[in-house]
Amino acid sequence: MNFDDYNFLNKKAIVRVDFNVPLNENFEITDDTRMRAAIPTIKKIINDGGSAIIMSHLGRPKNGPENKFSLKHIVPHLSQLLGLEVKFAPDCIGNQAKEIASKLKAGEVLLLENLRFYKEETNGDLQFSKELASMADVYVNDAFGTAHRAHASTTIIAGFFPNDKMFGYVIENELNSINKVLNDSTGTITAILGGAKVSSKISIIENLIYKVNNLIIGGGMTYTFIKALGGNIGSSLVENDKLDMALNILNIAKKNNVNIYLPTDSIVADKFDNNANTKLCKVDEIEEGWMGLDIGQESVNKFIDVINNSDTILWNGPMGVFEMSSFENGTKKIAKALVEVTKKGAFTLIGGGDSVAAINKYNMADKVSYVSTGGGALLEYIEGKELPGIAAIKSK
Ligand code: AMP
Repeated sequence: MNFDDYNFLNKKAIVRVDFNVPLNENFEITDDTRMRAAIPTIKKIINDGGSAIIMSHLGRPKNGPENKFSLKHIVPHLSQLLGLEVKFAPDCIGNQAKEIASKLKAGEVLLLENLRFYKEETNGDLQFSKELASMADVYVNDAFGTAHRAHASTTIIAGFFPNDKMFGYVIENELNSINKVLNDSTGTITAILGGAKVSSKISIIENLIYKVNNLIIGGGMTYTFIKALGGNIGSSLVENDKLDMALNILNIAKKNNVNIYLPTDSIVADKFDNNANTKLCKVDEIEEGWMGLDIGQESVNKFIDVINNSDTILWNGPMGVFEMSSFENGTKKIAKALVEVTKKGAFTLIGGGDSVAAINKYNMADKVSYVSTGGGALLEYIEGKELPGIAAIKSK
């Protein structure tokens, strides 16, 4: 069912959002991106004349309620973002929550306390899901970041709304953007993969290799490939048990006519430290005692050239240790190149933990086509896995 086409008039919608926002020691929100992302979905429901029961998790409470993980801390900010007074239920299930929910009038919004104060949430408990479901007429899932978990509020609850379940705008936008890269693209498609380890990206590479024209590899992963090809990598990060896998990837790429671009030069350092001694050298001629912590200028130029000739680009993982200013050049230049190519009409999707952190660090998030909100969920989707939260809405 399409969210935009659904009329919420006189309906109570229970909406799973991702309000897992960072709070400081005074319980102030230090980054409200995830909250702002969900506002259009909530507004659509209340503007239609419906009411919204909002549910989310916050942090990782271990054993029942904990003040520092209470969603009550975010009520004032949510009220401000929505321009109305949000009600709060101090327990996500039970009589009080039911009572407030039953009295909700059109245009009103209720926030439930942290779902993860109950272990039943992460266990995907049926009875718990039923209790949540009993408060509403329609279920909306708008939490892409937890769509890869079969939790009560993300997956099991959908079973109680066979004819009234749908994604909100956040998930719809995520799926449209990823599918644009994976399935609907015309022209040249390029994936840029970086980050620390080959092992954590292997399933992604294995799926992407059948979908893209170019695969750019950077970051710490580089050196496992270079060593597998017989190069000298000094003390760079390496996964010695993945050398065969790296060669295998290169072979599959060749068979499928995918161009693989590995760095040709590196900024190497004599220790893992921002103040280390550094020098530029060929990526396969790194001396013992030196480690590659960023890509060199020749590699940057080559990668930018590939980016400029692409129509669709997916970027996951930094090109170097971008957290240290001495080794951020490659990552920054790639981010800039993505901004430029977006201006020329290319579709650029940035996703997965650290590349999102990088694009935010350089204040470029609004200058690319789409920045994914779902780290792990996005990666599993790209790997070709079926996400339980997505499947639960799509199944009849
Ligand atoms: P990932 O979570 O796998 O995307 O990895 C991100 C991390 O990889 C970041 O913290 C980077 O600092 C790190 N990284 C990137 N390039 C290198 C490198 N050449 N050597 C060691 N770590 C790196």
